[in-house]
Amino acid sequence: MSEPSPAARSLSGRDIAARLRASAAESVSALAVAGVAVRLAIVTATQDESSAWYVRSIAAAAGKVGIETEIVDLTPQAGPSQIEAALARLSAEDDVHGIILQTPLPVGARAEQLALSIDPAKDVDGANPLSLGRLTVGLTSFAPATAQAVLQLLDFHGVELAGSRAVVVGRSAVVGKPLLQLLLRRDATVTVCHSRTRDLPAVTRKADVLVAAVGRAGLITADYIRPGAVVIDVGTNPTAGGGLTGDVDARSAAPVAGALSPVPGGVGPVTTAQLLLNTATAAIQR
Ligand code: NAP
Repeated sequence: MSEPSPAARSLSGRDIAARLRASAAESVSALAVAGVAVRLAIVTATQDESSAWYVRSIAAAAGKVGIETEIVDLTPQAGPSQIEAALARLSAEDDVHGIILQTPLPVGARAEQLALSIDPAKDVDGANPLSLGRLTVGLTSFAPATAQAVLQLLDFHGVELAGSRAVVVGRSAVVGKPLLQLLLRRDATVTVCHSRTRDLPAVTRKADVLVAAVGRAGLITADYIRPGAVVIDVGTNPTAGGGLTGDVDARSAAPVAGALSPVPGGVGPVTTAQLLLNTATAAIQR
């Protein structure tokens, strides 16, 4: 009789998300006592249904910790100058503490370009390229909430980063690049992979900590994972049944990895909670 394969430890995001929400709620209450109502603005210019669902879920989560939400819906007909004007107006408004520029954007609008109009002090999702630049040289700034969420998850589950070999698959400005900076700051030795990386499994198999942020369902199988490695799955890929699945093929990865974050229930809830905490922090820092 063969021994059953050991299953990877599940790195759930639920408990750390609850802790971050509690921390945000505490700050929001303290500000309310001081007469400050914390307000988050979300600028959207799409009819994409999953984006609309995400905006509604942020607004609902914000309401539960006492943060007011203003959704500025510019419709897909909005041009870049209209989006820039909305971001500049919100940046100048005293009673707005956090600003999110929701993607996807209309054709011809570039998120990185438009996000330059977000005041870095209100850039709670680290979208302004200045925020990434500041992060890179170790100055205070908001990192994108998803990248922060990966670090929160690793810390909560006690994963040692200093001296570890970390491999991030994906080099976007919202996940891969800021994660490189956050992991470097924590003294990991970091490799960032992308669609032109040669022999990806050979690179990822070197990782003590492997982060998949690609957007390709099930790309990372057992062959990509060093036995015992910690695997964080950032991917959120829609399934035919209306659910979500990650970039990691959990069924083949679980017997090899030492720990694996689930999708849903891993990075996703931590990202939303981190956004709320960043908004509360922005209001405190004002
Ligand atoms: P993105 O902007 O499309 O970037 C994807 C990255 O993956 C790119 O750097 C791309 O390389 C790389 N890539 C694509 N195919 C590859 C392959 N076969 N092998 C190796 N690398 C490959 O995506 P993103 O915005 O970073 O998002 C990535 C995933 O995370 C998506 O599933 C997204 O839905 C999810 N996400 C989740 C959250 C959350 O809160 N849970 C938040 C944000 C994003 P090139 O640069 O060479 O094109």
